[in-house]
Amino acid sequence: MKTLYKMTPKRRFISGMLGGRIDRVPVGSATSVATVEQEEMTNSYFPDAHLDGEKVARLAAGAYEILGYDCIMPVFSVVAESAALGCEIDWGDKENMPINRSSPWEDPDEVTVPEDFLDKPSIKACLDAIKILRDTYGDQVAIMGKVMGPWTMAYHMHGVQEFLMETISDPERVRSFLSKLKKVTVLFGKAQIKAGADVLCLADHATGDLVSSETYRDFLLSFHKELTKEIGCPMALHICGDTLDRIKHICESGFDCFHFDSKVDAGEAVNEAGGRISLMGNINNPEILLKGSPEEVAEKAYYAIRAGVQIVGPECAIPLVTPIENLKKIVKVAEEENNIIGS
Ligand SMILES: [Zn+2]
Repeated sequence: MKTLYKMTPKRRFISGMLGGRIDRVPVGSATSVATVEQEEMTNSYFPDAHLDGEKVARLAAGAYEILGYDCIMPVFSVVAESAALGCEIDWGDKENMPINRSSPWEDPDEVTVPEDFLDKPSIKACLDAIKILRDTYGDQVAIMGKVMGPWTMAYHMHGVQEFLMETISDPERVRSFLSKLKKVTVLFGKAQIKAGADVLCLADHATGDLVSSETYRDFLLSFHKELTKEIGCPMALHICGDTLDRIKHICESGFDCFHFDSKVDAGEAVNEAGGRISLMGNINNPEILLKGSPEEVAEKAYYAIRAGVQIVGPECAIPLVTPIENLKKIVKVAEEENNIIGS
């Protein structure tokens, strides 16, 4: 349903996440939309823009100031938590996102959360950035935080191969990791809300490329139900890759919105969700946003909007050399499409 008044980006985005009235389709992403061009325009460069709150905020604001998106999401990497928990991190550079270089925990008994977790540099930078963004944009633009779920943290802290093999060889060990790591997601998530985040993305990479839909249902669904209940704010789940076969389970998780990948057809995702969860996405990064023309971006954005996706944007963290022109084109399409939908 369409409103008769013009909404602020904040109201538009949050309403889209919750499946409510909108004046036009909101544009944004639950994952990073930072690029090298934006680093240059904001004079805030990676890797400093992962670890210095003021720089993080300056670069993140580009999502609104430069791209015209309806939300600002300042947690660019996927390693903030694992860095604070003791992984060795290669922090990357201007053109490369950070990655973890070690997975220090052999056993669930080793899972410990440092008392000063919220003061660790990678965590504090995100919280400081959210405070700054809240002060500057909080009345106009949706501020979205981001936390890693226990599944993704187990990949980092224990190792992807080891963890996935144990889903078969030692399911109780897997549950023990998830149960302990869940506390980190709650701790960081609640701290982000306190710092001023309106909504949260929870990224938990139980993708169809690595695990079955039954694995999501049997291992992770109960933890996601607990997490959405305990954290309590509007939340979007992000899982990239092919997830069509698990959308039916995700609809039971308590998330308001699912941020999905172009490997899932937008029309099929909308069908599968059946109005039980909002959808955000799913414009392809490597072929369309990175290498395609603005016309190709427009075609995909129109397709997603007309299929019924509630928030249109990139499918996942965009490659850092993605052209701004392509990212801005999505907003143009949402504005133009406004004359068609709901009229
Ligand atoms: Zn992703």
